[in-house]
Amino acid sequence: MTKRSALDLIDDWLATGYRSRRTIDAEHLPAAIQPPEAGSDSDPRLAELSAVAREVAGCTRCPLSLNRTRTVPGEGSVDPPVLFVGEGPGEEEDRTGRPFVGAAGRYLDKWIAATGLERGACFIANCVKCRPPQNREPHPDEIAACLPYLERQIAALAPRAIVGLGRIASQTLLGTSTGVGALRGKVHDRRGIPLVATYHPSAVLRDQSLRAPVWEDLKRLKGLLGHG
Ligand code: URA
Ligand code: SF4
Repeated sequence: MTKRSALDLIDDWLATGYRSRRTIDAEHLPAAIQPPEAGSDSDPRLAELSAVAREVAGCTRCPLSLNRTRTVPGEGSVDPPVLFVGEGPGEEEDRTGRPFVGAAGRYLDKWIAATGLERGACFIANCVKCRPPQNREPHPDEIAACLPYLERQIAALAPRAIVGLGRIASQTLLGTSTGVGALRGKVHDRRGIPLVATYHPSAVLRDQSLRAPVWEDLKRLKGLLGHG
């Protein structure tokens, strides 16, 4: 452990205390990942996404494991037109094991509907699969520890497009430290998959002036999908 992450551990402990045991969330989440059609339980994408969810459920690769209630590996269709990627679970997500189910999630649902998509037909995941204490931003070493799970999800899903929700997701997906204001407004090529970066729904709930640029980005996404 680096000196910095040892200090972060102490910070988190002072802020929230630690649970006495790490929870293992073995069976809940694979059920939230939908096979492309009934009877296709042997789909290799389903097998890989379920494997990721199971590994995440027992993961102790980073200190975020210490405070989680449930892991939140992500959910949705194994054959999604779009993969939405957020930052990390919040309180509701930590309690339920499902991504984007709190206030930001209800707002994201509206964005998805406005794009002409159904939430259940997409896939929704996060950069880190365990909730950072008090919803602080995940640290770079935590994001790095968790990224292999997201990479495996992207490889299995092969979505037609990826949306980075907010600075952390957009920077992580694009491997850059450029701010989200400069990353949004165009379509990026992420190793062959078109990627749209935009603001995080929580940020837009706080700042109405971000609504117009998000709408532009969603129109860009629609265009990519041929819904434009
Ligand atoms: N914010 C995120 O970034 N992800 C969630 O799952 C919920 C809120
Ligand atoms: Fe493992 Fe990711 Fe959770 Fe850290 S955030 S413990 S790397 S699943």
